[in-house]
Amino acid sequence: MLKKYLRLMYNFYFLLGVSFFKISTKLHPCLICRQNKVRHLFKDLFICNDCRSIQKRPQPNKLLWRLKHRNALLSACFNKDISKTRMAEAKKQLIVLERFKNPGKLFDIGCNGGFFMKVAQDRGWEVIGNDISIGAVKWGRTNFGLNIMYGYLDDLNLNSDYYEAVNLWNVLEHTHNPMLTLKLCWNMIKKDGLLMVKLPSKNRNSIKVHYDQYHLFEWNETDSNELIEKVGFKKIWENIINHKNGLTEIERFYQKAGPSSNEK
Ligand SMILES: [Zn+2]
Repeated sequence: MLKKYLRLMYNFYFLLGVSFFKISTKLHPCLICRQNKVRHLFKDLFICNDCRSIQKRPQPNKLLWRLKHRNALLSACFNKDISKTRMAEAKKQLIVLERFKNPGKLFDIGCNGGFFMKVAQDRGWEVIGNDISIGAVKWGRTNFGLNIMYGYLDDLNLNSDYYEAVNLWNVLEHTHNPMLTLKLCWNMIKKDGLLMVKLPSKNRNSIKVHYDQYHLFEWNETDSNELIEKVGFKKIWENIINHKNGLTEIERFYQKAGPSSNEK
């Protein structure tokens, strides 16, 4: 009898909690376009009817999120084969980059242990990066001797119009404010410099199969491009990867062109 009562009470408060969450989210506008048109999609994900970005609600607190990731290390840090594969992928990407730009200054955002940076440095690039995992920052400094800054990009004081290339490899979907991240990239990059982006492409159906609790945002192919070009970047190269498990990933290069959305 008591068990039944407790279960009833639990179900009541659970439903009350979910309803309150859904109602309160409706009162909060989209985190990208600020329109008041988000609706529940799946689990803790909501979709904006206006810009169609998929967003996690509520957003995790930035400080707690950084603490949660304090020891996040890529499996490449422990496994030589995975490390080789990752560095081979980085090399492939850098060969494409060098079709557009000679080695210069490169910033790698969310660089983790610095595998991409290490390959770039060996090819003549002057590299610097950042990460919110203090474990990864220390690993990269110790194992590769790299210059890796600790912290969120928006907490760092970085030079404007300084870098030939900025790398956002599987990072934009993890950021609390993708629009701000893209604007900061735009500011950091020199005129005609390049932004490298790699991110998954998910729609309202595939998100249910490829849900990732660490992604704060998700987009499909068209919408991620629209978001990035809105800031003042122009797409100059693209590669679509269809994985065996059905997940689609996009690699793109953008050139800094036109006024940023800050100035429009
Ligand atoms: Zn929106």
